[in-house]
Amino acid sequence: MKIENVGFIGWRGMVGSVLLDRMRAEGDFDGLAPEFYTTSQVGDAPPDVGCDAPPLKDAYDLAALARHDAIVTCQGGDYTKQVLHELRKNGWTGYWIDAARFKRMDDDSVIVLDPVNRDVIDRGIASGVKNYIGGNCTVSLMLMGLGGLFQNDWVEWMTAMTYQSASGAGAQGMIELMHQMRALSDGCSDLLSNPASTALEIDRKLSEIAGSDAYPTKTFGVPLAGSLIPWIDAPTEDGSTLEEWKGNAEGNKILGTERPIPIDGICVRVGAMRCHSQAFTVKLRADVPMDEIEDALAKANDWVSFVPNEMQATREQLSPAAVTGTLTVPVGRVRKLRMGGDFLGAFSVGDQLLWGAAEPLRRVLNILRESV
Ligand code: NAP
Repeated sequence: MKIENVGFIGWRGMVGSVLLDRMRAEGDFDGLAPEFYTTSQVGDAPPDVGCDAPPLKDAYDLAALARHDAIVTCQGGDYTKQVLHELRKNGWTGYWIDAARFKRMDDDSVIVLDPVNRDVIDRGIASGVKNYIGGNCTVSLMLMGLGGLFQNDWVEWMTAMTYQSASGAGAQGMIELMHQMRALSDGCSDLLSNPASTALEIDRKLSEIAGSDAYPTKTFGVPLAGSLIPWIDAPTEDGSTLEEWKGNAEGNKILGTERPIPIDGICVRVGAMRCHSQAFTVKLRADVPMDEIEDALAKANDWVSFVPNEMQATREQLSPAAVTGTLTVPVGRVRKLRMGGDFLGAFSVGDQLLWGAAEPLRRVLNILRESV
């Protein structure tokens, strides 16, 4: 089967627009006949991807969707829930490539992160799996950054404490954070331009603005700028959030572990624009020497970059400001913890819109084009 006729849904959102950028940059549209869909702008011009495409189609037009060899969607879980089942029920046998969580844990889906689980993807293709789903962003970035530890089966259990950016909540999240920043900045401009103002006066004014009814909090529900929110996604029965649950469930599914590795943590939304950062505590199966650990981390894949545990290198390389818009996944602050030689601390940052979302989808489309 040749994959040529591909439908794209959700290409206007955060993940979708980064996906199109990457596909344009890598020449992935060569040889494709793409068609673009929308839930809100039917009939408008399609995005410029360097080849002809018809005007935007209705994303709920099942007959049009069913004509594609593959569908790539970054529209979200509600869309997948509504459309995929109907398409399959009507006999569509094409490939479904999706950024949303909805299908990830199903037995008829593979979670894709090919630098980590190319073997799982290849087995899926060989056995006729038709659904290829991008993993949760923090989970994918954790596996990219700490790949060397997993490849050597050194991890007994681990925690990931996350610092997740506003764009992880989509375009509206990022826009709301900017509106909050503007409201804070505009409201304090007189105080800021007066050299006699004290920091305490400015702080009181900021609290007053952030607590006012006019402050924009529709997406996050509470202030994020100048603050943080230690809760992401829905609650689960055991007191964790869904975002925290995914670390264990999806992480083990991606790795294809026979003995699941316990992975847990607390996921926190912070006022960064883009990139998710994570602080890890890793219980190793043994007191592995540091030089072996550093070597394994650095060599795990082509995108991980080992940052020496030094102040200047850490400040310069290990932050959202340094990483945003790049495919590099730096991992640093690597050291043995006080608890013993088999306890390792580490910190990583990655662009959640690239390796955490768009890049695995782009790559699996190419893997399918080459393989089926
Ligand atoms: P998003 O930015 O909210 O975009 C989703 C859709 O919202 C767009 O395709 C667009 O659909 C519509 N939309 C409404 N207002 C918009 C605006 N101002 N700008 C752009 N689009 C707007 O969602 P997303 O963050 O890309 O997430 C898509 C899926 O990927 C979700 O399932 C999410 O969980 C998953 N995911 C997200 C991330 C992340 O970091 N954001 C990471 C991994 C996975 P129409 O064109 O049809 O109107």
